[in-house]
Amino acid sequence: MKIPICRPFIGKEEKEAVLAVLDSGQLAQGKEVAQLEANFARFLGIREAVATSSGTTALFTVLQALGVKTGDRVVTTPFTFVASASSIVQAGGIPVFCEVDEKTFNLDANRLEEILKANPRIKGMVVVHLYGLPCSMEDILYLAKRYQIFVVEDCAQAHGAELQGKKVGTFGDAGVFSFYPTKNMTTGEGGMIVTSCPQLADKCRMLINHGSHEKYLHQILGYNFRMNNLGAAIGLVQLRRLNQTNQKRRKNAAFYTNQLSGIPWIVTPFEPASATHVYHQYTLRVLQGRDSLRAYLKDKGIGTEVYYPLPLHQQPFLKSILGEQSFPVSENLSREVLSLPVYPLLQQEELEEIVFHIKQFFNLPSIQLPAKEEATWE
Ligand SMILES: *Cc1c(COP(=O)(O)O)cnc(C)c1O
Repeated sequence: MKIPICRPFIGKEEKEAVLAVLDSGQLAQGKEVAQLEANFARFLGIREAVATSSGTTALFTVLQALGVKTGDRVVTTPFTFVASASSIVQAGGIPVFCEVDEKTFNLDANRLEEILKANPRIKGMVVVHLYGLPCSMEDILYLAKRYQIFVVEDCAQAHGAELQGKKVGTFGDAGVFSFYPTKNMTTGEGGMIVTSCPQLADKCRMLINHGSHEKYLHQILGYNFRMNNLGAAIGLVQLRRLNQTNQKRRKNAAFYTNQLSGIPWIVTPFEPASATHVYHQYTLRVLQGRDSLRAYLKDKGIGTEVYYPLPLHQQPFLKSILGEQSFPVSENLSREVLSLPVYPLLQQEELEEIVFHIKQFFNLPSIQLPAKEEATWE
């Protein structure tokens, strides 16, 4: 691919930070991990942050810490990455899917109350800020309070995203982040649990460290889900750069939206005035010919991706637990969505080239021909 769907931004500073950890000999969880926890908590404006080995282990851990037990129902959306729901199953719970809103791709809060009313065994929700766009937390928190259930925010795609000036991860009982290389910031593999509740953070710290606070004394059944210093050293640099890289993602997204919003077969991403979208993905709905467009762009050397081609209620392992279910909005979106490259390292010429080929595909005149091709005619 000439222009891949994703290219992680690893600079000189990350390399130096990793070398310094290697030289220190302290490779496992230590100083750098503690520093990343402190800096990440400060960045969000929240009291506690617990670093983990991945976003998935962070989700699983926090669900256990919140007391999810065998048979407990936990609401989430069928239109997300598998981990939002598999972590519920790992903790012994049963996912209850709530349909999404086709405009935001996020859980449709208007359908939530009906589900909560019908299911007295629902213990909590895992709400996902998909592609970097915050959910409507006001409605969600209102219902959570009313039905006395917990709210975990899956912020794996939304580092730094805001709702009315407040960062996601700080609304619910806990927030969970992923630092996988394709996310808005990375530690290689890694994750973070954030919460304003010290007791909950304490329980998480114990769970990720063999159920132990004191060496060789194990209070509860635990795991090894710790982050290591090499990853944390990368993360410290990435976090320092996050506002800037998110800003570049937003700028790239604005260019696309400006160029593509007039095409009748395309719906560009929605961004409500109250939210700051951080464009982990820039995702179009292509109402006709999504797969042909994707193949056409691939032929031109442009990588795109479908997040996600199969909604979770149709995944074999969940179907075997939950049986046949239908969520038409999610199913329809999985046939329409197409994510374009939006990462901070993209050059303006690359953005223009992508737009050029999309317009060519739809046989539309190019408002912005790449300069080199236009020059010969002027
Ligand atoms: C990436 C992701 C996760 C899982 O994070 P990992 O670090 O890959 O385990 C969970 N939920 C969502 C929505 C994600 O995008």
